[in-house]
Amino acid sequence: MSETERHSQVITCKAVVCWGIGEAGKVEEIQVEPPKASEVRVKMLYASLCHTDILISKKATQLLPLFPRVLGHEGVGVVESIGEEGDMVIPTFVSECQECENCVSGKTNMCLKYPLSFTGLMPDGTSRMSAKGQKLYHVFSCSTCSEYMVVNVNYLVKLPPNMITSGSFPLPHASFLSCGFSTGFGAPWKEAKLEKGSTVAVIGLGAVGLGAVEGARVQGAARIIGIDKNDKKREKGKAFGMTDFINPDHHHHHHHKSVSQLIKDLTAGMGVDYCFECTGFAPFINEALEATKLGKGTAIVIGTSNITSVQINSLSLLCGRTLKGSMFGGLKTKTDFPLIIQKCMNKDMQLDQLLTHQVPLVDINQALELLKHPDCVKVLIKI
Ligand SMILES: [Zn+2]
Ligand SMILES: [Zn+2]
Repeated sequence: MSETERHSQVITCKAVVCWGIGEAGKVEEIQVEPPKASEVRVKMLYASLCHTDILISKKATQLLPLFPRVLGHEGVGVVESIGEEGDMVIPTFVSECQECENCVSGKTNMCLKYPLSFTGLMPDGTSRMSAKGQKLYHVFSCSTCSEYMVVNVNYLVKLPPNMITSGSFPLPHASFLSCGFSTGFGAPWKEAKLEKGSTVAVIGLGAVGLGAVEGARVQGAARIIGIDKNDKKREKGKAFGMTDFINPDHHHHHHHKSVSQLIKDLTAGMGVDYCFECTGFAPFINEALEATKLGKGTAIVIGTSNITSVQINSLSLLCGRTLKGSMFGGLKTKTDFPLIIQKCMNKDMQLDQLLTHQVPLVDINQALELLKHPDCVKVLIKI
């Protein structure tokens, strides 16, 4: 078969399909169409799960109830057809055109030309995937829990060839850069624009929280307080640069102190300059705000949640604190990823510390269960 013929073939392959809310993922044979203009078909090598994958599969209510869909938005693969074949790529759910009002503003990564997609479809409103004759939806820009996927080229980051061939960076770790860890890493750098010597608190030490710890360390934070209900996260946090650890469950005998109070207790009553909320547990948004310094503290929300509203202590805001939300930690794919990739190649980031479990694609439901386990940081899926 000639190359042109192969590129125009529909591929039948295995993928994890979730047919409806609350249903387990099923490994099904799906059809993946050839890519259209500005798209590439990618042969996936690894995927990894993020808590958002649980939210949108197991208990999705408001968050993107699009079914049937192919799961997964973190991964790494190789370009199979169209574009530069053989390129190693990772999908990202945000993009950067470098031209629109938002991209040139220097204030946000929310590109207007290639926006964050909530439709579960390609930018042209169609899907390249189907199963049993039914159209399949994506998760944001892609579906990584599949042997093949088609992605718009604007939502891909190309990994430099020497990154892979030099062996300086294990390929599975690249999957972790697609969403969670990068979101955390970007927040202190791009959203907080954290000043050297700042004090920081990070609520929730999953992949996002550990990324925030790492990001705060790289930006020169003087003190990084990690908060998690699992004592095993103490060691994980330290590996990324955490200086203090709070397990709120250990303090229950002290009259049920709030997380913000526990943070203030550690900071002579002052609170921190920046607090990053990484759990997606809505009441912690208020705790994050309360945990920051009077008049100048900033709380940044980066954890995803199914809850659409939360009560905020207005006095806390009136007293000069800032509450800010962020997608992907404010990272821009073209401007900021080269630096992240360089750090990975220099082994400045302990991405191996994130990998706690590995399963094959057929065991996807075990992977989703593992993700709920407190000791789990990242489940890697070998495609
Ligand atoms: Zn994610
Ligand atoms: Zn733009």
